[in-house]
Amino acid sequence: MGKANSKHTPMRRCNGCMKSFPKKELLRLVVADDKVVVDPGGKTEGRGAYLCRSEDCLSKALKKKRFTNVMTRKLTEDEAEAVKAAIGVAEGRSEVSE
Ligand SMILES: [Zn+2]
Repeated sequence: MGKANSKHTPMRRCNGCMKSFPKKELLRLVVADDKVVVDPGGKTEGRGAYLCRSEDCLSKALKKKRFTNVMTRKLTEDEAEAVKAAIGVAEGRSEVSE
C-alpha cells in the first residue's frame, strides 16, 4: 500500500523527544543574530533546529542547558513564548481538565 514517492520524505529529529519525523511536521527554529526565531516557511538562513509541534517536546527541549547543538544556550522567555505561539500552545489555555 505504499506510495512510491513517499520514501523521499526528508526526516529531521525533534530536539524534545529526539525522534525523527517528516521535516514538514516539525517546527523549524533558526539562530539569526544570536536570536532564536521560528521559521514557519523553512526559508530563513541560518543554523536550524527542529521541534515537534508539542508543548511536551518544547518543555523537554527547554530543560536542556543547550537547546540544541547549534543553539548553545537556553531559550530566553521571549523566544520560548514565540515558539509556543507557533506551536499553537496559547498561554492560559492548558486548563483542560479531563
Ligand atoms: Zn518531539
